[in-house]
Amino acid sequence: MNIRHHLDDATLLVYAAGSLSEGMSLLVASHIDRCAHCQVRVRQAEAVGGALLEELTPVALAPDALDQVLALLETDAGVPQARTPRPAVLDADIPAPLAQYLKKPLDELDWRTLVPGVRQLDLRLGGPGATRLLRIAPGLSVPHHSHRGNELTLILRGSYSDELGRFQAGDVADLDEQISHQPISDSGEDCICLIATDAPLRFSGLMGRLVQPFIGL
Ligand SMILES: [Zn+2]
Repeated sequence: MNIRHHLDDATLLVYAAGSLSEGMSLLVASHIDRCAHCQVRVRQAEAVGGALLEELTPVALAPDALDQVLALLETDAGVPQARTPRPAVLDADIPAPLAQYLKKPLDELDWRTLVPGVRQLDLRLGGPGATRLLRIAPGLSVPHHSHRGNELTLILRGSYSDELGRFQAGDVADLDEQISHQPISDSGEDCICLIATDAPLRFSGLMGRLVQPFIGL
């Protein structure tokens, strides 16, 4: 997998601090699952966060704190997550963290048609934003839009191009509200992406504003 587009450092720091929404966290974990570059960066972000915590929270430890930690390490709670078995591969295009939410291969999901050639599956995770899969037929585009908050997009299959470049499987687009774009599915197969937002999108064209109530983006 030749990943060219990565997560911003700001996003990695918030992820490492455990402060992203469930959907955004899922997307970040799904990218990191396949991106050695961001795996290193998130470990650095965790180290920075740990150092900040040491600076900011001078707490008195109980006299038996070390014994408590050692006792914890001997129980299941102390078993590192890496030792839990990874789920069986559903579909080579679905990263392991996402597989736990989908439970079916991409082609067998209950896709709902938004407009001809554009289908979606809402993961219904709740919260202020949305987490969905979007499936766009070759040559089609999502209406031009900007964002009220942040939007993370992870390409699972196919590719798209927009004002920022070309995004292929494994790439992530980490956008804030300064960016307005119109992605076009540009390969011979459907472009399937996981998209997580922390606020509703803002469509700029008349067409986008007209369809927004219907497609719920
Ligand atoms: Zn990356």
